[in-house]
Amino acid sequence: MSKSIEKFYITTPIYYVNAEPHIGHAYTTIVADVLARFYRQEIGSENVFFLTGTDEHGAKVAEMAAKLGKSPQEFTDQISGSFKEAWKNLDISHDYFIRTTDAKHKKIVIDILNKLKDKGVLYEADYQGLYCVGCEKFILESELVEGKCPDHNREPQKLKEKNWFFSLQQFLPKIKQAIELGELLVYPASRKNEVLGLIDKQSLPDFSISRSRKSVPWGIDLPWDKEQKTYVWVDALSNYITALDYPEGEKFKKFWPADAQFLGLEILKFHAVYWPAILLALDLPLPKLYIHGFFTIDGQKMSKTLGNVISPNALAEKYGAEVSKYLILSQFSFGAESDIKIENFAEKYNADLVNGLGNLLNRVTNMVEKYLDGKIDLQFVDKKLAQEEIRQLRFREALLTIWQVIQNSNTLIDQEKPWLLAKDEKNKGKLEELLKELVFDLYNIATGLKPFMPEKSAQIIAILTADKIKKPTEPIFPRLDLSD
Ligand SMILES: [Zn+2]
Repeated sequence: MSKSIEKFYITTPIYYVNAEPHIGHAYTTIVADVLARFYRQEIGSENVFFLTGTDEHGAKVAEMAAKLGKSPQEFTDQISGSFKEAWKNLDISHDYFIRTTDAKHKKIVIDILNKLKDKGVLYEADYQGLYCVGCEKFILESELVEGKCPDHNREPQKLKEKNWFFSLQQFLPKIKQAIELGELLVYPASRKNEVLGLIDKQSLPDFSISRSRKSVPWGIDLPWDKEQKTYVWVDALSNYITALDYPEGEKFKKFWPADAQFLGLEILKFHAVYWPAILLALDLPLPKLYIHGFFTIDGQKMSKTLGNVISPNALAEKYGAEVSKYLILSQFSFGAESDIKIENFAEKYNADLVNGLGNLLNRVTNMVEKYLDGKIDLQFVDKKLAQEEIRQLRFREALLTIWQVIQNSNTLIDQEKPWLLAKDEKNKGKLEELLKELVFDLYNIATGLKPFMPEKSAQIIAILTADKIKKPTEPIFPRLDLSD
C-alpha cells in the first residue's frame, strides 16, 4: 500500500445470524477496527469508510426462527441486535452497519440482479443435488461423511428444481489473470495459490443465484420470477456495494473498490471467485482481499458442545474493550493459523499492561514530579512507531515493536538508577536528559498505541503533555486478581 492513499474502504464479512457473536467474529472485526482507526489518523475520518453488518436471509434462518416460534424478521432483529451490542461493548468504530433485510439493500440487490440478467450472464436450468440446510449450499457426495454433512452432522436433502444460474465459467480466465496481475489481491500468498489451484482444477461450475421459494422461503424475490428467491450468497456479497449506494451514490463513487476486505478461510471461494465474477459482470474494479486463518481456543476447536465459545461481551466486561483487543491481536500474526490462549489472558494482562506499560508510566511520571517538579522542557515529535507494521497488517508485530520500547525503557531505568543520580546536584543535567528520553519514548509508545487503544493512548498523552507532569492517582491498568 502506497503512502499516497486518498481514501480507504474496509469491510468485514456480514455475519450470518445463525449464532450469537463469538470470538471468531470479534477477531475479524477488531482487525478491521484497528486498520480503520489507523487510516482515519493518516488521511482523515471523512476519507475512511468501515463497514460491518449481518447476513439475514436463507432457509436456515427461517428454520431456526420457526423452531423458536418467531417470525424470521423477529429472529434476525434479535441476533442482529446482539452483534450491534457486542461491537458497542468492544468499542468498534464502524461507519455503517448493514443488514440484508434493510429496504435499501433489498432494492439495490434487485437492481443488481436486473443488471446481471441484462448483461446476459444469467440463464435458467435444472439443478439437481444434495443440499445442506446447515451450510446453505449444495454439497458434493464426496464431501459427506457417513452420508451426512460433516459440519452439521445432518443428512442433506435431495433437491431438483429450476434455478437461475450465473455463468461463472466465462469469468474464470479473467479472474485468474486479475489475481496474477495483482488487480485482485488475495493475501496471504498461500490463499492466493489456493484460489489459483481451484481455478486450474476446473472444479468451479456455474453457480445458481436462486432457489425455489419452496426450498428457501426467506429471501429476496427474483424480480422476473417470483417463484424464485435470490440465493443467499449473491444477496450477501452485494452488501459491499449496496452499503455505498451503488451505482450512483457519492459514497460508491468515492470508496469502491474496497482497499481491505477481511474474511475467514471458510468463505474464501465465495469472496475470491464468485464475488470478483459478479463485479466483472458489472464492469466494476476488483477489491483487495485479506484472509485470516482458522484458530483454536486454548488448543481446541471452537464449538458449542465443548462450551468454549467465548462471547466478546464477557471479554469486554472483564478487561474492557481496549485491553480485550490488545489481548486478542497479540496472540498470533495475521493470516497465520494459530491458537488464542484465553486461559493466559489474565496473566498476560498483568505482565504486559500492569507491570509493563502501566508501571513504566507510574515510574516515569513519579520521577518527573519528584525530581523536576513536574516540569520537563521537551519538544514532542511523533516518531510514528509501528506504523509500517500496521500498514502491512502485521498487528501482532506492531504491538511487539511497541512493547520492545516499553521493555527498553524499564531496563534503562533499572540500569541508570535515576534515584541515585538525584542524590547529587552535579548529576542534575544527566538526570534531566534521562527523564526527557523516557518521557519522549513514553509519548511515542502512546501515539503508536492509538489505533489499538485510543482512550488509554489519549490518557497517557494528556498526562505527559500537561503543564505539570503528575503521577496518575489511579493506575491506568488496575491489577487483576489472578485467583478470580
Ligand atoms: Zn452442512
